[in-house]
Amino acid sequence: MDTDQLIQRDQLIAAGLQHLLLLPDSDAYLNREASYWAANVALHPNCIVQPRTTEEVSRVVKVLAKIGGPVALRSGGHTQWEGSNDVYNGVTIDLGRMTKVTYDSHSKLASIQPGPRWGDVYQELLKYNVCVTGGRDGNVGIGGFLTGGGNSYYAGLYGFACDNVANFEVVLANGDVVNANATSHSHLWTALKGGSGNFGIVTRFDMYTIPAKDIWGGIRAATRNEGDKLAQTMVDFTNDNDKNPEDAYIINYTFNPSSSSDVLVAHVIVDTNGVVNASAFDKIQKVPVVVEDVRKRTMANMADSYLLPSHQQQVWFSLTFKNDVKVIKKAGEMHDTLVDELKGLIPAGNFTTQCLFQPIPTLFAKHSVQRGGNVMGLDKVNENALLWLITGATETPEQQKIMREKLTAFSATLERFAKLKGLDVSWQYLNYVDKTQDPLRSYGMYNLDFIRKVATEYDPSRMFQTKVVSGWKIPNVDA
Ligand SMILES: Cc1cc2nc3c(=O)[nH]c(=O)nc-3n(C[C@H](O)[C@H](O)[C@H](O)COP(=O)(O)OP(=O)(O)OC[C@H]3O[C@@H](n4cnc5c(N)ncnc54)[C@H](O)[C@@H]3O)c2cc1C
Repeated sequence: MDTDQLIQRDQLIAAGLQHLLLLPDSDAYLNREASYWAANVALHPNCIVQPRTTEEVSRVVKVLAKIGGPVALRSGGHTQWEGSNDVYNGVTIDLGRMTKVTYDSHSKLASIQPGPRWGDVYQELLKYNVCVTGGRDGNVGIGGFLTGGGNSYYAGLYGFACDNVANFEVVLANGDVVNANATSHSHLWTALKGGSGNFGIVTRFDMYTIPAKDIWGGIRAATRNEGDKLAQTMVDFTNDNDKNPEDAYIINYTFNPSSSSDVLVAHVIVDTNGVVNASAFDKIQKVPVVVEDVRKRTMANMADSYLLPSHQQQVWFSLTFKNDVKVIKKAGEMHDTLVDELKGLIPAGNFTTQCLFQPIPTLFAKHSVQRGGNVMGLDKVNENALLWLITGATETPEQQKIMREKLTAFSATLERFAKLKGLDVSWQYLNYVDKTQDPLRSYGMYNLDFIRKVATEYDPSRMFQTKVVSGWKIPNVDA
């Protein structure tokens, strides 16, 4: 530990914040480090500080702003790359104790602190018979999801989750607390919708609510032989999503030896209005499956039904393509080869892969624009697109190294293929990409300049761009 790190800890204690600190080797510290979703992201900071209120966040920020040493910020701790939400030899501000979720029946807004998980939020809001456009996996965190975009089953009806934030309560680098919304600090409001942690710490998200209707949906899984048929259904669904905006669809070429020794083509279908056998899924439901768990249920139940396992070494890459079956088929074939190769390199049962496609129709960005706009730049993509994500989970750091080499090459090859065929789209989804990718640049120059200007206005000392090192930072784009 060098002087800066000692000073950070001493100054937090001197400011009377000792009761918020977790120090290395204490059970509480070890539990928080073990609570990250991916095993590879816990970097064991010099100390963790856990504010419980907005006022305590402000006091913590004021202390850390005055002294040297790196700082990280985490809400749910679900991001999968090293450096996204923890820091070695610095202080991690952990918002995990700020878990309040309330509902105001007059404004019809849900107020959500950054610390709970989406599953908790859905359960709490069910008491008022309302829901929000949150994560599809109930364990995912709030702060990263909402400041990075947030793709939900409701995107066809309401756009990205960030487009459904009416107001952000934000602690700025000087400790001031501001409310950013359409009429006050509106530039900050826009920039926080996709601009991630470059401006301050969001301590409360006030979200528009929707009625908590039961949804109809779940997972089906077909054998690999059905892959081409399902690929075509994804393209057709994406092109028709504006006619069925209440429906959502994901397909996933996946190898998971705990359920099958073969690659399967899993797929999720959801009708958010709760219509059983909704017509948008007619062709999909004709494809024979080996697994089927599709039924009527609450969003809370859906979010808690398919939790992706934690505590594994993760590597993710993501790209966006034009809505064309050639890219899906190519990715499916490459995934077959990948799994065969990995079987020769990593013991059976020690790895899983997912190669997913989900619709990004122009419809989503239209909702964003109607709701005040964000900085993600998808409104400049003027044709229906597909969001691709590949994930590789392993048990050990050595296996993760192998996985990283393979997925780096996979992503580069698929990108080259798409470019050759004229099917590439330069946009990247910040919440899915690997640390070697460049999502902020993919938002386009206009949005990048806007983010820079807002960051300069609200964070002139550049605390959240240089001292708070976790996540996607503007200076890294400029470097
Ligand atoms: C199993 C799984 C399922 C997922 N499902 C979905 C999905 O359905 N849809 C989707 O869009 N994404 C999904 N994701 C991706 C997810 O959106 C991101 O991982 C997201 O960052 C998680 O939020 P978090 O609060 O846990 O982030 P953390 O890892 O805690 O934080 C990441 C970064 O976000 C920023 N940040 C966090 N909190 C704040 C705050 N309060 N104020 C300012 N900045 C903040 C910081 O820069 C921080 O460095 C999934 C991820 C996983 C692992």
